[in-house]
Amino acid sequence: MYIATVDMSSCGGCHNALLAIGEPLIALLSRHTLSFSSPLMDRRSISPSDVVIACGAIGTREELEVAGEIARTSRKVIAVGSCAVYGGVCGSGSARPETDFEELDLPHLLNRALPLDSTMDIELYIPGCPPPPNLIFEALKSVLEGYTAPHFDATVCSECPRRVTDNHVESWDPHPSYGAGNETCHLNAGHLCLGPVTRGGCHAACTSRGAVCAGCRGPSEMVLSSQLHSIFSDMVKYMSLTTRTREDRVAGQLQAMLRSIYLFTRGDPVTWARVGERLPKD
Ligand code: SF4
Ligand code: SF4
Ligand code: SF4
Repeated sequence: MYIATVDMSSCGGCHNALLAIGEPLIALLSRHTLSFSSPLMDRRSISPSDVVIACGAIGTREELEVAGEIARTSRKVIAVGSCAVYGGVCGSGSARPETDFEELDLPHLLNRALPLDSTMDIELYIPGCPPPPNLIFEALKSVLEGYTAPHFDATVCSECPRRVTDNHVESWDPHPSYGAGNETCHLNAGHLCLGPVTRGGCHAACTSRGAVCAGCRGPSEMVLSSQLHSIFSDMVKYMSLTTRTREDRVAGQLQAMLRSIYLFTRGDPVTWARVGERLPKD
């Protein structure tokens, strides 16, 4: 099969994660043909491909055209990374004025960075900032060679080695200290951790090393699958339960921190529609 890899508005981290697959990727590609790779080839038009590995959000008018080309000429697209899936960090800013830097010969910025599925059908979504290389590899194998890729319904908490203790916190610390040796659940210790509402699959990469989960894999299956679920209410309930802090108290403190909570999904109109109304006005 013919494979293309495309980078749009991104930091390049997802392509690095792709390369980090290493020898298994080389072995897989040796059975197929790499027909195009935007970081490797100095050429604008994408060759028609069976599978496109697409990283980054659509942030410029030029990328909107590239997305249209992919939609017309490709059979299957794998959206790799939270920028591609949700708009990610690129889509996290508020809507901005559409900007044309014509006199400087710079790209024409759209008024917001869009997730890829706003313009094309997506075969598989691999969120993460960046996603773990093994998840990208499994997605590729499943699309190219019929391997059944694992599906992650559970949350980061289910993969986390930290444990809830009999605690009671009075306030949340938006700037948690990092304590790799501490085995207590971050929420339980009063540090905002998005593990309870975030899709697993990363093996709790951050919390097992001392940091909180920043939610880079996006909302969990449970949060996404039920239209009745409010992401905000889920967080409040869980935090209240694990820390024995009153729900209204948790809700008040979370409200002030919402902009950073939804950092990775602000570019996604579906997710954002369910939380945006809770944000303080600019
Ligand atoms: S998802 Fe993260 S690592 Fe990937 S391109 Fe976006 S910002 Fe970079
Ligand atoms: S809230 Fe965070 S630290 Fe606590 S169990 Fe879940 S992922 Fe681990
Ligand atoms: S622990 Fe959270 S922030 Fe860290 S990689 Fe996993 S989903 Fe992303």
